[in-house]
Amino acid sequence: VSGNPHAEQIPRYVRVNTTMWSLEDAIEYLISQGYTLGTHESKKSFEKDAHIPNLLLFPAQTEFHHDAAYKSGKLILQDKASCFPAVVLAPPARKDAVVIDATAAPGNKTTHLSALMRNMGKLYAFERDRKRFGTLLTMLSRAGCKNVEPINTDFLNVDPLDPKYANVTHILLDPSCSGSGIVNRLDYLIETEDNSDEAQEGRLNKLASFQLMIKHAMKFPKGARIVYSTCSIHAVENERVVRAALLSDEAKAGPFHLAPRKDVLPTWHRRGMPEEMDASDDALSVIRCSPGEDATNGFFVSCFVRCADQASTSN
Ligand code: SAM
Repeated sequence: VSGNPHAEQIPRYVRVNTTMWSLEDAIEYLISQGYTLGTHESKKSFEKDAHIPNLLLFPAQTEFHHDAAYKSGKLILQDKASCFPAVVLAPPARKDAVVIDATAAPGNKTTHLSALMRNMGKLYAFERDRKRFGTLLTMLSRAGCKNVEPINTDFLNVDPLDPKYANVTHILLDPSCSGSGIVNRLDYLIETEDNSDEAQEGRLNKLASFQLMIKHAMKFPKGARIVYSTCSIHAVENERVVRAALLSDEAKAGPFHLAPRKDVLPTWHRRGMPEEMDASDDALSVIRCSPGEDATNGFFVSCFVRCADQASTSN
């Protein structure tokens, strides 16, 4: 994207929507369209991602908007870092699975969760904004998701003790953030580096609302695994939120702690900022992606687990 040198270093990432077809069928289709499976560095070629199953890399300039498989929802354009949260949450693929995507629109991660659940069980997808909810509905229908119940409401107004949610075990929280990790949105970078009193206050309010959301997720009686992610590079929206959530009454009541590194994409090299966490192990438990260094947008992923259930939910 013009003006930002990082954008050119990011390959075109394409997630194969395994709800509709297999990785093998997708590769066969792409080869029939003139692509070669090899390296993403030469024109009309692609490769498999090293960390995320069913994710393919193409040269950055590759255009998919006219591609039949893209138009029918079989291929989803989704940055690699944005695929981390659903993979880390690792929702069960079972008829009795019950999962929540608390902040769902436009639906990239909802469709990814649905695919990982193999379209089974129930995935409640909350979105408070009416217009964005419409986009979510379009995306769910195009991606063939049958196990999703989209609900146009604020997740914070959902009663964790409602019998409807009694069997929820996995929750994804991917709230609105500064967007400072998105390399083609320089305006956000400028906005979040504003140090006026007004900007500081806005940041603190946001921080409080993120914490509230994690604490709310911790109240679901069978909640065992909660992923909190942002596309921000700022510790104030990431490590500091996690640190405060760990000290909350809700975390103590769970009890919830951070999943160990071995359960949170252990092969991914970039972890959290140790100087922003209380324990150095906590920094290793969380993931960061750095724009310009990791061939992705900037991103942060953390995963809270209820202690007693950790063994049965690790991915
Ligand atoms: N996970 C989405 C994806 O991968 O496509 C992106 C989510 S976007 C970063 C955050 C979304 O959460 C926005 O659409 C916003 O309207 C919604 N949102 C923010 N706070 C919410 C809340 N308390 N309840 C429900 N939706 C919320």
